[in-house]
Amino acid sequence: MSERMLLLGNDAMAHGLVENGCSVVASYPGTPASEILSGVAQWQARYQLPMHVEWAVNEKVALEIAYAASQAGLRAATAMKQVGLNVASDPLMSAAYLGVKGGFLVISADDPGPHSSQTEQDSRLTAMAAKVPVLDPDSPEHARRLTGLGLELSEAFEVPVMLRPTTRVCHANQDILPGAVHPAVRRADFVKDPQRWAATPVHRYRLHLALEEKLRKIAAWEPTAPQLLNPGSGGRRAVIAAGVAAAHAREIMQDLGLWEVLPLWQVVQPYPLHTAFIEQVLAAYDELLVLEETVGVIEMQLADRGRVRGKRSGFVPEVGELLPETVARLIADFAAVPGELSVTAPAGGGRRPTLCPGCPHRASFYAIKRAAPRGIYPSDIGCYTLGLNLGGVDTVLCMGAAVSQAAGFYHAYRLSGELPDIVATVGDSTFFHAGIPPLIDAVVQDARFVLVILDNSTTAMTGNQPTPASGCGAGGVPTAAVDMEALVAACGVKFCRVGQPGDLPAFIALMKEAVAFARTDGVAVVIARQPCVVDRSYRGARPTPRAVTVSDACNGCRYCIEQFECPALVYDEQRQRVVIDTLTCSDCGVCTAVCPRLAIEEIP
Ligand code: SF4
Ligand code: SF4
Repeated sequence: MSERMLLLGNDAMAHGLVENGCSVVASYPGTPASEILSGVAQWQARYQLPMHVEWAVNEKVALEIAYAASQAGLRAATAMKQVGLNVASDPLMSAAYLGVKGGFLVISADDPGPHSSQTEQDSRLTAMAAKVPVLDPDSPEHARRLTGLGLELSEAFEVPVMLRPTTRVCHANQDILPGAVHPAVRRADFVKDPQRWAATPVHRYRLHLALEEKLRKIAAWEPTAPQLLNPGSGGRRAVIAAGVAAAHAREIMQDLGLWEVLPLWQVVQPYPLHTAFIEQVLAAYDELLVLEETVGVIEMQLADRGRVRGKRSGFVPEVGELLPETVARLIADFAAVPGELSVTAPAGGGRRPTLCPGCPHRASFYAIKRAAPRGIYPSDIGCYTLGLNLGGVDTVLCMGAAVSQAAGFYHAYRLSGELPDIVATVGDSTFFHAGIPPLIDAVVQDARFVLVILDNSTTAMTGNQPTPASGCGAGGVPTAAVDMEALVAACGVKFCRVGQPGDLPAFIALMKEAVAFARTDGVAVVIARQPCVVDRSYRGARPTPRAVTVSDACNGCRYCIEQFECPALVYDEQRQRVVIDTLTCSDCGVCTAVCPRLAIEEIP
């Protein structure tokens, strides 16, 4: 018996997976998708379900694990953010050809805006490229229902299905009546069929033909057909909306008094767009307004785009979220409702982001700058990207690229006869995710740089999920733990040392040693190991707290603020010197080693 619950969108999708009999769920954390897997682990524990739930080492591995379970006939899912889908795109493309047995759902959460991502990319385009159907939920409850419909669609056509929530769906809360949970009763039963599961190119051609046939049928599948939300409306103009834009349009059209006069179609399955729907709207209306985030995926499938006002016509902004006020102005303009009609993309930005007070990464970046002051600093994806503000990060490309880029810079400069110091930074989770292959490559190709693995023993940026070194998995279950030092050594690295960045003088000395080694002898790896200050799940020892104060020796030079940038170091305009904000200071004591006048002192 189910009860109403206030659920986060990600939790609602997690519930959808367990109530629809998913047996295997694997994920790699990434905002806005991170809470889907932790939600599944929570429901699994609550309902005592026999499931395999795991934080995988990266998205490709997560997809491959879940896909294999589907090949064996079980229902399975994988969850990731949109840029994680790039990592998983290789197996996704092949899985589309080979097809599935048990329902297989790929949840790829998009981040229009973008709020916490490198790019605004639209996962639906990847779905189109992979030729897998994609469903676009408009709310947490809709996302929960579409997990079930997606699994059903997947099994009906033996094809992977993508569910594409956006940040506003993932992170909204809604009062929901979830469905009843029944433990999955299927047994794994992998039926050998090498012509399908291990297809050679000639069979892949046949599988591609079969996939195209499936897509034609899916474009006519009744349960995912577009819905006219206001059947009493009429006229020669209509709005077509998908995802969160559909939810906004519904409310806005009622507010503007347009509900009875302007037809509103909601597209649940943006790809493949239903063929009959395309014919129907082109016959029934002279003009169409298409509202969708982020790319004009529906728009580009409408055969006669001359009649469409959308992103390609320049009517709808191509960049940023479709916020309610934007949708309101677009609909008002389209329906010729009087008022302010110009639309501009929402301005991005906001407060300058910074590392937390007491974050060990701040000390690491400070030490890197001291050890290699004119160095090149490639970095990676994680909290430590904020080392930008500290001048300790020069490049950020994608997961694991810090290591390859460090090697690339080395080879480029060597050809020019120069050897600048190069110090790359990568987080512990990112190192496991995509840092190991480029490290092997760097060693084999005799590159020379320092790699600092910022090991705070967690995946901090996305909410402190475990790493392969943590010794625990989803839901806190114990797992084997990988020895990072042994792994680095096994990659062929000759210099691998562990230091604690909070002991700043000793850490600077270690960094100088590593830089000197790298100049002549190859790759040096420094593991900067100290727990994340905000990780409540960390059970190991933490550095002894050291409360600090600023003495009268402070002359207000601002060196500590500019070079160390701890938010708890505050410039007091009246006194023209720095003071400690004791409300935010975490008593790490590191700043005592930063002030050149020794004005920051430990309180005895
Ligand atoms: S505490 Fe030290 S570094 Fe900071 S402003 Fe004062 S004198 Fe300068
Ligand atoms: S002790 Fe210094 S560096 Fe540490 S949190 Fe407080 S002000 Fe920041």
